[in-house]
Amino acid sequence: MRTISNADLAELLARAAEAVEGIRRRAFKRAARSAFLWPEQARDLFDEGRSLLELNGVGPFFAGRLRDWLGEPPSDLTPPPLRRDFITLADAFSLLATRPSWSKQLRGDLQMHTHWSDGSDAVAEMAAAGAERGYEYIAVTDHSKGLKIAGGIDEAALKKQAAEIAQINDASHAAGGTLTVLRSIEMNLNPRGEGDMEPAALRRLDLVLGSFHSSLRTTEDQTGRYLAALRNRSVHVLGHPRGRIYNYRRGLNADWTRVFGEAARLDKAVEIDCYPDRQDLNVALLKLARKEGARISLGTDAHHAAQLGFIALGLAAALRAKIPADRILNFLPLSALKAWAKGHWQSAS
Ligand SMILES: [Zn+2]
Repeated sequence: MRTISNADLAELLARAAEAVEGIRRRAFKRAARSAFLWPEQARDLFDEGRSLLELNGVGPFFAGRLRDWLGEPPSDLTPPPLRRDFITLADAFSLLATRPSWSKQLRGDLQMHTHWSDGSDAVAEMAAAGAERGYEYIAVTDHSKGLKIAGGIDEAALKKQAAEIAQINDASHAAGGTLTVLRSIEMNLNPRGEGDMEPAALRRLDLVLGSFHSSLRTTEDQTGRYLAALRNRSVHVLGHPRGRIYNYRRGLNADWTRVFGEAARLDKAVEIDCYPDRQDLNVALLKLARKEGARISLGTDAHHAAQLGFIALGLAAALRAKIPADRILNFLPLSALKAWAKGHWQSAS
């Protein structure tokens, strides 16, 4: 008999959602998403005779459905493209456990939000959580002013935030702490690859991510916008490149070989946004990025401190795609990371 994984259960829950309406549909969809975050395989709990109520988001109703599927797995569990190539946390943990040396190279997290934009924790709280994980650095990447819906910040706020970050770093280092908070931003890019912030304000930062948040449903080839974004001199890292969202939006299309080739030529990075619903780039595209030699940046896109744990999804995707360690930005020591970022601006001026 075939065994059934949390990814399979997520797919079954997502399909069940499509068969019902309203509040029940939303409940099934939510359950599908929570299946991605269960730290253990539901199958293992079932086999060991443990209660499925141990799983986050599972009440008696869903436990019953899960038991039916675990007892008698349906045959075709292939997800449609809208739900394909997403890794569950349980699978990520199993994969990473086979290569402990891989995760040990991780030195930091390069995308997160704080209450300066749409995150729910302060910079200091994110820094404390990063330090607890043993990180050498975290990049605070609040949204820029063009993304009003996410409370994007302008140049003046960015300057104030930089002062707060300097204070946090000074206080932490004085007390023997080793984590450095990097001044960064997730700059909103328009479909022409242009940012919404003054280049002079960006030059005072340690790292600049550029991301698209608009016109994400077009099915036409978008190679042009990616090339323009990579050639934007202010941008180091292309954030969540496709703009896909689990069970909601497939994301953009492009000649990815050309996009990743250009990233490699310019020595810039493309991101694995590790947020469970995003996982963008996904493994299939990461394999193309590996062939072209592009640098890869890992960012959880955490909106509160507990979400820093999503990094496992990105580490697993990179490992599965066999990205060489020397291509991963977050495996660089702080000084090398900063020198790489600065180097782009020196050669550009
Ligand atoms: Zn974003």
